[in-house]
Amino acid sequence: MKLKHLLIIAFLLISALPLFLGLKYLNQQSGNHTRDLYAQHLSALSNIAKQRILTAVDRIKDNTALVSSRTQMRISLARWNATSGVADQEKITKIIHDAKNGLAHIKDISVFDRNGRLVATTAYQADIEQLDLRLESRASISLTSGEPGLLAISTAPLLLNHDTVGHIRLTFFPEFILELVRDRTGLGETGEWSFAVRHESGDALFAVPLKYDHQAAFTRRVSSDRLDVPITQALLGNEALMSWAPDYTEQPVMASTRYIKELDWGLVAKINEAEVNQVINRNLTLIYAAEMVIILIALVVGIVLSYFIAKPIEKLRAHTSKVARGSLEEPQMMGGWREARELTAHFSFMIKSLRELNESLQLKVDERTKELNEANLRLEQLAIRDPLTGLHNRRYLDARISEEFERAKRYQHPLSVVILDIDHFKSVNDTHGHGMGDEVLKKISNHLKGAIRDSDILARIGGEEFCLVLPECSPKASLAFLERVRVNISEIEFRSDDKVFNVTCSFGVAYLKSCSDAPAELISHADAALYQAKRTGRDRVVQHAAQAEPPVTADP
Ligand code: GH3
Ligand code: MG
Ligand code: MG
Repeated sequence: MKLKHLLIIAFLLISALPLFLGLKYLNQQSGNHTRDLYAQHLSALSNIAKQRILTAVDRIKDNTALVSSRTQMRISLARWNATSGVADQEKITKIIHDAKNGLAHIKDISVFDRNGRLVATTAYQADIEQLDLRLESRASISLTSGEPGLLAISTAPLLLNHDTVGHIRLTFFPEFILELVRDRTGLGETGEWSFAVRHESGDALFAVPLKYDHQAAFTRRVSSDRLDVPITQALLGNEALMSWAPDYTEQPVMASTRYIKELDWGLVAKINEAEVNQVINRNLTLIYAAEMVIILIALVVGIVLSYFIAKPIEKLRAHTSKVARGSLEEPQMMGGWREARELTAHFSFMIKSLRELNESLQLKVDERTKELNEANLRLEQLAIRDPLTGLHNRRYLDARISEEFERAKRYQHPLSVVILDIDHFKSVNDTHGHGMGDEVLKKISNHLKGAIRDSDILARIGGEEFCLVLPECSPKASLAFLERVRVNISEIEFRSDDKVFNVTCSFGVAYLKSCSDAPAELISHADAALYQAKRTGRDRVVQHAAQAEPPVTADP
């Protein structure tokens, strides 16, 4: 992996840090929220349970009052106190049997005389034949365990004309309490109700079987100094929500405590903290999973976006390096974000302009090169031509004569070299002026140019001296040709101040022979022949003596 990629990942992680911190805070809040929900739920449940118990207690009180209000029963009891008559006892017995049959959830009704002695009962066998009047002088409701289980006992004095004539005791099956503790709806897997009365020692005495102790009713106690246990707090009258409090099994629980003041009963709705945590953790797992998905999506979107942004730039970069290496190809137009497209378009335009500039520069360079070549050619021509006559000069002759000499020698072909000089040219100048002299030079030059073949070489090598090189031309043919030229020149008419005059030329000619080992030798031979021509009268063609072909001279 490249450093660039590591940096990108580090950058992504650093940018994701606030997100992680935010999510951590969110998770914490979510945990707290779940706990709050459980707390509110427990509190609401325990409150409803308390209201249900109070309603049931009111019903017990109502039933007790209903039975106590039977006048015949109280009159018979008043009489029974005085006479202990069997008839009164039977009457009371009948009344309470009737009353029992008319009431739901009732086990037994017993009636006692003013001394607390049992007068009549619906029970087959009365457990208590004597009431403890110290305890039972007022109306009261208490819970006890008996056959077949939890019993609620409601006791009330029976009054007749403001006198206490006896007492009545109703024993109920307190289904409302048993139903309540059996129904654990809303308390999860581990939750339960606990319900306790105060033991004479002051401890909390559980009055119903417990989930984790079925024998707890009226046997299991929680010491009054265990203030950390919810049921103790309930009996202390503290209605509160307790977290991480140990219950009777010492398990940490979340609990809502309720106190029924009138009867000194305590009620607790609780659920194990482990279960609450499990739910919180399950929620957290879900939230974490959702968060991971969000982070993953964000990462993927980030990577795709960066690819989307970086790709056109990368393409452009690759293209610029091509341009740097000399290619002026325009980049391909690409998709992607608007700025990248604009950048590519501008870049393309730039390259197009550059190419056009290059092309126009190339055109200019070509033009200049052509001009330079032409100038060079002109210079070259100037260097090898005589400006007055336009004929080649001595330099050109020297270069060409060597070539022709070598070729003729190699193939043993004929080659003639002629030196030609205008006769008495000085007197032409003197007589007709230098301008006329120039005119004569030009005319003779033109004439010579017109007379020779393309392969011949003609050069002006002195003021009025010319040299002719005639390759592939035999001495005989040369001689005939030169003779013709000589005659033709002598016939040219020149006009000066209405005077007509002619000029003549002398020719010295030399031929290539096997003994000639340098072109200079040929020229000097031709020069010697010319000298001979001048000496022998001018206006003639003279062959070099050593090479002469008859006739040696052609006299005019
Ligand atoms: P010859 O018959 O012995 O050759 O006599 P000549 O007068 O021709 O020879 P000479 O060497 O005495 O004179 C050559 C003259 O050519 C001298 C010079 O003034 C003339 N001359 C040389 N170059 C030019 C030129 O370019 N223009 C003109 N008008 N005259 C030239
Ligand atoms: Mg001369
Ligand atoms: Mg001359």
